Amino acid sequence: MAAPPDASAPLGFGTRAVHAGQAPDPSTGAIMTPIYQTSTYVQARPGDHQGHEYARVTNPTRTALEGNLAALEGAAHGITFASGVAAIDALCKSLRPGDHIVSTNDLYGGTYRLFRQVYEPFGLRFSFGDLTDLDAFEQMLEPTTKLVWLETPTNPLLRIYDIAGVVERTRAKSPEAVVVVDNTFASPYLQRPLEHGADLVLHSTTKYLGGHSDVVGGAILTDDEAWTEKLRFQIKATGAVPGPMDCFLVLRATKTLHLRMERHCANADAVARFLRTHPKVGRVRFPGFEDHPGHALAARQMRTPSGTPAFGGMVSFELVNDALDVAMDVMANTRVFSLAESLGGVESLVSHPASMTHGSIPADVRRAAGLPDSLIRLSVGVEDEADLIADLDRALGVA
Ligand code: PLP
Repeated sequence: MAAPPDASAPLGFGTRAVHAGQAPDPSTGAIMTPIYQTSTYVQARPGDHQGHEYARVTNPTRTALEGNLAALEGAAHGITFASGVAAIDALCKSLRPGDHIVSTNDLYGGTYRLFRQVYEPFGLRFSFGDLTDLDAFEQMLEPTTKLVWLETPTNPLLRIYDIAGVVERTRAKSPEAVVVVDNTFASPYLQRPLEHGADLVLHSTTKYLGGHSDVVGGAILTDDEAWTEKLRFQIKATGAVPGPMDCFLVLRATKTLHLRMERHCANADAVARFLRTHPKVGRVRFPGFEDHPGHALAARQMRTPSGTPAFGGMVSFELVNDALDVAMDVMANTRVFSLAESLGGVESLVSHPASMTHGSIPADVRRAAGLPDSLIRLSVGVEDEADLIADLDRALGVA
C-alpha cells in the first residue's frame, strides 16, 4: 500500500493494525517508520519548522504509534507515555485535590499503589468497590466524582464489568465524571470501550500491544478534545514520554496483534478447560466458561472485529483448599511457562499475584477483594497448545 490509509476510512482491523498512522518514509521510501532518534528539530526561522520542535513534546515515531493505536481503538486521538503507570499518573495529575474517583476494587496492584500511596496523600479521594453491582456502584458516585476507573476483565480475578452500564449510571449521577477503561487485558482486538460509551481507554502497551516482552509503555486513546489537550499538556509539562525505539517496537508489534490474539484466546480456552478437570485445581477463572458469572456480558462486550465473542489470553486458578504450598510448587516446576511478572507476550508466563503483581495491596484488603493466597495467574502465550497443557500437567503432578 503506497499511500497512508486514512484511519477514519472503514478499513478492517488487520489492515489498520498493519498500516494506520504510518506512511513510507518520504526521504527514502523505507516501508517501516524510522526510529527518529533525535532530541530536537532544525527550524528555518524561529517558529518555521516541519511540525516538530522538541522531542519531549513530539517525535515522528511516537506520532505514528499514536495514530496507529487510536485507529485500533476507533479513537480520534492517541497520547503515548513512558509506561502504563505513567499514563495513569498523567490522568491523576490532571485532577485537583478534593476530586473524587470511583474505582474497581479488583485492579492492577500498581494502579492501586499509585492511587492510595501517591495521590490520596495529595488530596484525591478514592472509593473502591465491586462494580458488578450497578446499584451499589451508583451509591458510590458523588456530585464531585471526576473519574470512574474500570478494568475489565480485571487483574487478576477476571471479573467482567459492564462498560455501557457503568457509563449510563455515571452520566445520570455524576455528569462531570469521565469513565476510563484500562483495556490492557482485552486489547482493542477483543474490546473497544469507546464503542460502549467510555470516554478514555488506557493501555499498558507493555502487554498485548507490545506483545514480545521487550518494551515498557503506555497509551491513552480518546475522542475527547479537552482531555486530549490536558494529557498533551501533561506530556509537555511533566515529560513521561516513550523513547522512539520503544515506540518503534510497539508499532512493529501491533502489526500482528490480530494474529496473536486469536492464538492467545484459543490456547487460553484449551488451558482453562484442562485445568478444570485436574483434581488438584480448585476454582478456575476464565470468562469463556459458560458458568463464569460475567460470561454473557463478556460475550456481548468482548468481540473480535468480525463480531465473534472471544475471551482473552488470561486464566487464573487456585488450588484445592487454597493450598499455597502446592501453588508455590506448581510455579517452581513449569518449564514452558516462565515464572515472571507481566503478561501479554508471545511466551506463556505464570505468576503469583498475592506476592508479585498485587504484593503492594495489603493482605486484608486483598482477601476482602476475594483474591485467594494460592491464586495463580497465567498469561497464555502463542506456543503449541499441547505443550502448554503437558507443562501444567507435569508441574501439577510434581506439586
Ligand atoms: N494496567 C494493567 C491492567 C496492568 O496489568 C499493568 C501492569 O502490569 C499496568 C496497567 C501498568 O503498566 P506498566 O507496567 O506498563 O506501567
